[in-house]
Amino acid sequence: MDRIIRGITKDKSIRFFAIDATETVQEAVTIHHLSMTNSVIMGRMISATLMMAADLKSDKNVITLKIDGDGPTGVAIVTARKNGNVKGYAKYPEVEIPLNEHTKTFDIQNAIGNGTLTIIKDLGMKSPYIGQIELKYSTIAKDLTFYFAKSEQIPSSVGLGVLVMPDGTIKQAGGFIIQVLPETKEDVITKIENNLSKFPNLTDMMDMGHSIEDVISKFILKGLEPEVKETAPIKYKCDCSKEKFENGIKLLSKKELQEAIDTNETLTIHCHFCNTDYNFNKKKIEKILGQM
Ligand code: ZN
Repeated sequence: MDRIIRGITKDKSIRFFAIDATETVQEAVTIHHLSMTNSVIMGRMISATLMMAADLKSDKNVITLKIDGDGPTGVAIVTARKNGNVKGYAKYPEVEIPLNEHTKTFDIQNAIGNGTLTIIKDLGMKSPYIGQIELKYSTIAKDLTFYFAKSEQIPSSVGLGVLVMPDGTIKQAGGFIIQVLPETKEDVITKIENNLSKFPNLTDMMDMGHSIEDVISKFILKGLEPEVKETAPIKYKCDCSKEKFENGIKLLSKKELQEAIDTNETLTIHCHFCNTDYNFNKKKIEKILGQM
């Protein structure tokens, strides 16, 4: 079952987040008809954004992760809330690129290309917090590690994985973020580095039947007594509605709306996050115009 866990080691020196997002990523793949390459990119972004959202203070706070690269998959956006709801959008969802020649794995670096990674935190203030870095690795996990160090001054280790079956279905998807709190002793850091260097691959481990709880306690934070403080469900859920988009229609001029009525045109607004069309027919537009 999809879930996110967060906690801290007994000595309060290391905090951790881990996520099993297999079904959530599958939902994104189904909604957007994602190619395998896009499934991996979107899957990594979904896990990462949900883990960062788990650290927000209020349910109203929203975090958005945006990748803007010059590669074939171009732009992808994922937005998550503290309540575990996530939604995403890929600009070229069906674009596929060949596997990496040498490793025979998905060539995410070349799919994304060069560009920027942006984090937008809407904390209910007048203006959102925006942090941006250049993509140095284009693997998302390494870029986020760099982001945490540079923009938030938190030494971190980020792992993100998506295991795709040959038919395109998602077998496993998940991730972890390990963060070192100030004044953590050197031997603790050495221990984690040791554990991480021996840790094979997150989604392979999940596929062998290890839960994310096991991955943290028996492998990554082995010997450091990690304690899970919270377990929460997650799901792919768009917060759009016909009412929200009606406000969009109201941004059109009266002249434009009258033209639509005169030509008996149905106005359609498409939600990019859940691939839903909202149709406004003549009768509905007349009603909206009457209220303006
Ligand atoms: Zn929507």
